[in-house]
Amino acid sequence: MDPHSPAYIDLRSDTKTKPTPEMLEAMMTAELGDDMNGEDPTVNRLEAMICDMLGKEAAVFACSGTQSNQMGLRSHCLPGDELLIHELGHIAMFEGGGPAILSGVSCRTLTGEKGMLNLDTLRGKIRADDQHLCRTRLLCVENTTNAGGGHYYPLDQLTEICDWAHENGLKTHMDGARIFNATVAAGYSIKDVCAPLDTISICFSKGLGCPMGSILAGSKEEIAKARRSRKVFGGALRQAGIVAAACVYALENNIERLQQDHDNARFLAEQLAPIEGITTNPAETETNLVFFDIHPDLGNAMQLSKALHEVGVGIGAMGQTRLRACTHLDVDREQIEQVPGAVREVLKAGLERFQGIATGPYARG
Ligand SMILES: *Cc1c(COP(=O)(O)O)cnc(C)c1O
Repeated sequence: MDPHSPAYIDLRSDTKTKPTPEMLEAMMTAELGDDMNGEDPTVNRLEAMICDMLGKEAAVFACSGTQSNQMGLRSHCLPGDELLIHELGHIAMFEGGGPAILSGVSCRTLTGEKGMLNLDTLRGKIRADDQHLCRTRLLCVENTTNAGGGHYYPLDQLTEICDWAHENGLKTHMDGARIFNATVAAGYSIKDVCAPLDTISICFSKGLGCPMGSILAGSKEEIAKARRSRKVFGGALRQAGIVAAACVYALENNIERLQQDHDNARFLAEQLAPIEGITTNPAETETNLVFFDIHPDLGNAMQLSKALHEVGVGIGAMGQTRLRACTHLDVDREQIEQVPGAVREVLKAGLERFQGIATGPYARG
């Protein structure tokens, strides 16, 4: 089915949301100026709001989460440096090799439960000061984890690993693309979760429902550097207040409602769990991302994804057998209720006609 059809239930990503009339109204009536010169009042207001909410000195608006992440690590690292990150981390996996291309930085990828790092996996991973070795400079964490399963860091664990990083002379960056999903689900405050981090990036184009926009927050010094790299990366805009107005609107209206997405996700996981050929643990659905596996005898994740697409349900393949359904503000409970039936229907019909279609989307060989 065409994803533009009103009947299509699009759980492929929380980036699929469209701005509401209220958000569009805020965009159309925004006060504007030239943001490259710091003269856009709406961007300035958004940056000030974020500083206040996160308890950070400075913030800089960016086009995308990828851009704000890359600006963040550019602020901390020099060419030849290395960062520590989970092997499923977006910065290492889904940003096109950005650290190497834009900053000359290599990623040392580590393991850990649920896409999260802990002291056991980190200890011993900081390289000695030796001319043969690259300089370990930065710890990157992701909260909530995306490919890791939509989990939020327990505050103790996050504080512990950031303290360890700082004690050992590293900087810390949080990819907080979905940080508000974390605060709403975990019940911790945004200030508390940002306190141990030197820089934090946030996406407005995910569950917050904006058409685009991201922000990087941190110290004055780090954000001043990020303004320079934003310019170099082609992300310094002019009347960016048109977009920033949507972000201000989202901060004021769309945070608490994330709980509905989490409730819908848990409900979906509970409805999928009993389906024969599907495996998922509803208790592990902590936020808006539902991960489930298809039994390999029935087909692979890509084949199930294609079959569901045909009947009007968008769910992405994330691995050989893994799929990800993502709840968001443009999908309501009534639509979610139709999904388990669609999964049953396509599995009953069989996936034979999709034979030969590639396995996982992110690996080959
Ligand atoms: C979506 C996402 C980003 C940023 O992606 P953009 O598409 O560049 O906005 C960064 N980190 C995580 C974990 C994400 O899910």
